[in-house]
Amino acid sequence: MRNVVLLGSTGSIGTSTIKVAEDLPDRIRLLGLGAGNNMELLLEQTRKHRPEAICIADPAKARELRNVLGTGTEVFSGAEGLVKLATLPAADIVLIAIVGTGGLAPALAAIRAGKDIAVASKEILVMAGEIVMREAREHGVKVLAVDSEHSAIFQCLDGKPPGSVRRLWLTASGGPFRRTPKEEFPGITVERALKHPSWVMGRKITIDSATLFNKGLEMIEARWLFDIEMPRVSVVVHPQSVVHSMVEFVDGCMLAQLSTPDMCLPIQYALTYPERACSDRVQTNLATLGSLTFEEPDPDRFPALNLARRAGEVGGTLPAVFNAANEVAVEAFLNRRISFPQISEMVSQALSRHEVVSHPTLEQILAADTWARQEASSFHPTAV
Ligand code: NDP
Repeated sequence: MRNVVLLGSTGSIGTSTIKVAEDLPDRIRLLGLGAGNNMELLLEQTRKHRPEAICIADPAKARELRNVLGTGTEVFSGAEGLVKLATLPAADIVLIAIVGTGGLAPALAAIRAGKDIAVASKEILVMAGEIVMREAREHGVKVLAVDSEHSAIFQCLDGKPPGSVRRLWLTASGGPFRRTPKEEFPGITVERALKHPSWVMGRKITIDSATLFNKGLEMIEARWLFDIEMPRVSVVVHPQSVVHSMVEFVDGCMLAQLSTPDMCLPIQYALTYPERACSDRVQTNLATLGSLTFEEPDPDRFPALNLARRAGEVGGTLPAVFNAANEVAVEAFLNRRISFPQISEMVSQALSRHEVVSHPTLEQILAADTWARQEASSFHPTAV
């Protein structure tokens, strides 16, 4: 039985994690649940799974929950509450699926408390990959991937050292605009960008999948998670999203991990690793799928990939700027303040203007994050 703390329980990854826990009641106990604003769903999850403690962002909502729940469940609030949840003495593993940068502090706290972490929130490794992986090594804890691509690479690597790898191949669905001509990009609406061809996900990551910023973030994440420098991290477009990613070894052998797309699979693997637990949830019929195709990504229509490569190669505080500027840009696009191509223009501008700090401390990373948000917010679309 593994005691799991789930941060972001009310989101897309969070609710899939709860399904996995319900599939495997003998293996997974939900010890702690953390949410942002969705008090109703958190309450429903708490009544059903009886965690030891929960956390909600707003202290007023936490008071309300305390009144309703009585003494059976401890109720924390805010960023501090997430850290308390992530360090519950009985916790074995903390799965972090909070959108944005709020997962970083609880991730580090969990590692320092000797807990394994399962990472869905890309921001953690993109912003602070060097620090997180170093601390994990020092504290002897595992950093497990929840993202389907990184889970695939982890499964294909199967413990082989970085020296045995020629290249990591991240697959990208290509998003809804894979075939859209460049001239049509300025007219792309929020509604069209929110329709992903293969995955149902939160709003931020769905836009990131349409711009390929999601793949850019994953490139940087992979660089740290597997200790493979950026030039050996590549992307190939694979519209069917069945091959979740691949490893090309130094002898030319390529291993891939395949399944119909369902986030429950990588989530379950992260929570049961190194074992494989029986589950009927995911069934893959290759004959029905017919064909699996691969193509080069187009850096001209999707500048995110080259921007990510630059941020990852330069390193230091630049990946944090890449991440934060993109977050501001996505929000601006969702609020219809900028056009779809202006998302990458906004990020590109912030990257060019940033004075990079190499091997930064956490404080320097957070300062770069704040700087990038201000910088991106001062972007004037009419000036480009
Ligand atoms: P969602 O938007 O669906 O969910 C986000 C979750 O974060 C919600 O539970 C939300 O709570 C919670 N949250 C937001 N702010 C806070 C806060 N301040 N304190 C506590 N909780 C907070 O996102 P996804 O589940 O899609 O994605 C989560 C992360 O996982 C992202 O970083 C994403 O990139 C990554 N990821 C997602 C994948 C997917 O398939 N969805 C695949 C791989 C990675 P509430 O709803 O209650 O406000």
